[in-house]
Amino acid sequence: MTSSDRAVLTRDGLDALIATLAADGYRVYGPTVRDGAIVYDDIAGVADLPAGWTDEQDAGSYRLKRRDDDALFGYVVGPHSWKKYLHPPRRRLWRAAKTEEALTFTAEPEPAERFAFIGVRSCEIAAMAIQDKVFAVGDYADPQYRARRDGAFVVAVNCGEAGGTCFCVSMKTGPHVMSGFDLSLTEIERGDLPVYLIEAGSDAGRDLLARLPCRPVEANDITAADAAVAHAAAQMGRTLETDGIRDLLVNNPDHPRWDEVAARCLTCGNCTMVCPTCFCTTTEDSSDLDGGGAERTQRWDSCFTLDFSYIHGGSVRSSSKARYRQWMTHKLATWWDQFDTSGCVGCGRCITWCPVGIDITEEARAIRSDLTRETKP
Ligand code: SF4
Ligand code: SF4
Repeated sequence: MTSSDRAVLTRDGLDALIATLAADGYRVYGPTVRDGAIVYDDIAGVADLPAGWTDEQDAGSYRLKRRDDDALFGYVVGPHSWKKYLHPPRRRLWRAAKTEEALTFTAEPEPAERFAFIGVRSCEIAAMAIQDKVFAVGDYADPQYRARRDGAFVVAVNCGEAGGTCFCVSMKTGPHVMSGFDLSLTEIERGDLPVYLIEAGSDAGRDLLARLPCRPVEANDITAADAAVAHAAAQMGRTLETDGIRDLLVNNPDHPRWDEVAARCLTCGNCTMVCPTCFCTTTEDSSDLDGGGAERTQRWDSCFTLDFSYIHGGSVRSSSKARYRQWMTHKLATWWDQFDTSGCVGCGRCITWCPVGIDITEEARAIRSDLTRETKP
């Protein structure tokens, strides 16, 4: 990394970053406070960011709390992930129109809008890379996803603290952003207001950085940034032992723990909706009342719905046990067979937003510890 790749921004400089992205034609999204949570939405400047807020998270629990400083990124992740922009919850695939002369089908055009994402965490960049393997490569790549992803400008943020349900260190996805970003920020304390160590990770990032009002980096900026990330890494709320986890889950479909978790699971699908890597969808057709047109829509679905595994006469996974086991085994085990990666990045959202507090790390630990106990002499 050269000195032109790295600088320090003040809060005004961060405002200039957002304004420059907007002036360059990006629609800028970032974290903002709404309805008692930090969610991603349109932002126009630093004033829209969650200054002075943090989140307290545990299994089935999420609360916003005031911080005793003015940090802009002093929280971890909320219920939203960036997949809502790259892989939207609902989108039209095509529309058909019928006239007396002809029936025409028109595919939904590729989106022209380019997005800039402000505040993308390391685990979320890992999640984007996982969804790329699903949507952006191979014979069945989705051109709409590809267009959104190719047009996206990613401003990452290194975590300065971890949440109560985070386990990115176990999944080797964070908290330090290593790749997959255009610019990265590390919030560091300096006087009354924090400043931001900014680093370029792409040519587009380098070009934009050259146009921002910044000051050169000093040695103590780097020390402070490294200390902030080390603090987050040392503070993980959860851990997950990943050694041999594929075989552990694949070889134990009848473990009694699946019955225990099924007795608690509501099959609500919250865990799949908040997960940044879950990608399953269904399609719905609708027609105009006058018979002149019809359209096909794709929307997010979940392996926790009964209809998701419905095939000619019944659902393959009719019990909550079968559905929870499918979800967790796919995430942590068979995703490796399918995509050569884990399906989990350790963001902790499924733990926080599960209404009954089911914890994927605890379920994996329970199965592993029972088996370890059984095999001891
Ligand atoms: S594990 Fe929790 S969030 Fe997921 S379906 Fe079951 S009750 Fe809902
Ligand atoms: S399975 Fe849970 S912890 Fe893992 S990526 Fe999905 S929401 Fe995050």
